[in-house]
Amino acid sequence: QVVKSARVMKKAVAWLQPYIEANKKGDAKAAGKILMATVKGDVHDIGKNIVGVVLGCNNYDIIDMGVMVPAAKILEKAREVGADIIGLSGLITPSLDEMVYVAKEMEREGFTVPLLIGGATTSKTHTAVKIEPEYSGPVVYVLDASRSVSIASTLLSEDENNRSNFVLDVKKEYAGIRESRANKKDFKKYLSLEKARENGFVADWTNYHPPVPAKTGVYELDVAVEALLPYIDWTPFFSSWQLAGKYPAIMEDPVVGSEAKKLYNDAQSMLRRIIDEHWLQTKAVIGLFPANSTETDDVEIYADENRTHVVHTLHFLRQQRQKAANQPNLCLSDFIAPKGSYADYIGAFAVTAGMGIEPHVKRFEEEHDDYHAIMLKALADRLAEAMAEYVHERVRKEYWAYASEESLENDALIAEKYQGIRPAPGYPACPEHTEKGTLWDMLQVEQRTGITLTESYAMYPAASVSGWYFSHPGAKYFGLGQINRDQVEDYAQRKGMDMATAEKWLAPVINGES
Ligand code: SAH
Repeated sequence: QVVKSARVMKKAVAWLQPYIEANKKGDAKAAGKILMATVKGDVHDIGKNIVGVVLGCNNYDIIDMGVMVPAAKILEKAREVGADIIGLSGLITPSLDEMVYVAKEMEREGFTVPLLIGGATTSKTHTAVKIEPEYSGPVVYVLDASRSVSIASTLLSEDENNRSNFVLDVKKEYAGIRESRANKKDFKKYLSLEKARENGFVADWTNYHPPVPAKTGVYELDVAVEALLPYIDWTPFFSSWQLAGKYPAIMEDPVVGSEAKKLYNDAQSMLRRIIDEHWLQTKAVIGLFPANSTETDDVEIYADENRTHVVHTLHFLRQQRQKAANQPNLCLSDFIAPKGSYADYIGAFAVTAGMGIEPHVKRFEEEHDDYHAIMLKALADRLAEAMAEYVHERVRKEYWAYASEESLENDALIAEKYQGIRPAPGYPACPEHTEKGTLWDMLQVEQRTGITLTESYAMYPAASVSGWYFSHPGAKYFGLGQINRDQVEDYAQRKGMDMATAEKWLAPVINGES
């Protein structure tokens, strides 16, 4: 339904435009005005745009303020247009805090309109525990676009009973969530940071010697969009359109198969135009550096093979939850040889496929062609991920060259069947976003690629990917889980942050906080 809505949107809107204009002047009105924005510091808006399309097709008047919108701007606009609902969206964890701030500001300025919360890192629990207590108006978590219409229509229902019952039910439900959290005994056991470190992953450095890169230093790679096509992982493309299922099986799905096929064909046509008409420019920078780990979960980056001059220090976090016997408390630094043992290396990368996208998105939006505007953003995201895969392969084969004989099909690449990993700062093994600042310095990412970091450390353009390279065969992805105060204090000290700042950036992973 989402895809169908988006596809008809262009025609529907063009056709409806005179009526919409007439309605604005006359008595008849849209179902309601909904103001939507991706919060300050965050750049992702595909999900929000899809919600906008679905609501738009249901006769809501959508005012979309785009991305990186500060609270003050949102509230000013809401007043100006007389918004009936405000919807906030965000993808990365720092946006959770920003949404709490918007709620506080709405309260302070005396707003009463409903506040809707959505986006990848948001959750009903976070909404109930952190956002709802800050605002006396209705606050509702929206799981996905398909829920948005019924929630909006109930919130704006002419029938006051219907409306207030719903608001009351949600308030009760959220109070219940807060209560059960407060009463819940934490049966999970946590180790002290010291004990967790004692139980780290110990690689067998006597029988395994870290591979020495064929080339160290920083390199920019020229990557043609065409070269990326075989590396695209299509499954997330369908989920960005809210079609669940694995590619290619999804194309034969009895329910969504025909829509999936049409989407895929439209994507192929657009990819052709992206290439032939040079819509998108790619940029990629990688670096490989002499590095060793410390006893305090850091990785030191050295100026040269003498390994005496530390030029950068990466700060990783260690799992503290008590594990089953023989299970280590992991930290990414465990995958780098300890100082004083063997010469090891770490890599870093940043890639983007989003350079040049904006005029094209704008052109589609001006034509009220939401379908193609969303399609282009979704494809740029796919190309960025494909480039991360493609560049990683070249690093394994040519630059680090520890797998020069590797030959894997795309399926095997997607299933990560190669040696080594590329964890991304802000994701579960290394969830603290400010480490991207160090990555940006190490590779001079902004100067070399134009990718910038927002105040929340989101990458702009949105179709960008960055991360670290680890070569160790035992290196794997994991989730940090929750950490205790002792690690927050230790981290603050290692990073040279005051406690309040460390708490802010670590909030999503501090035990009992989220
Ligand atoms: N084929 C997918 C690849 C992206 S998801 C796509 O096209 O969308 C996998 C990537 O997410 C990994 O390469 C890594 O960069 C990141 N990732 C996954 N799990 C992670 C974890 N636990 N910690 C850090 N990064 C992780």
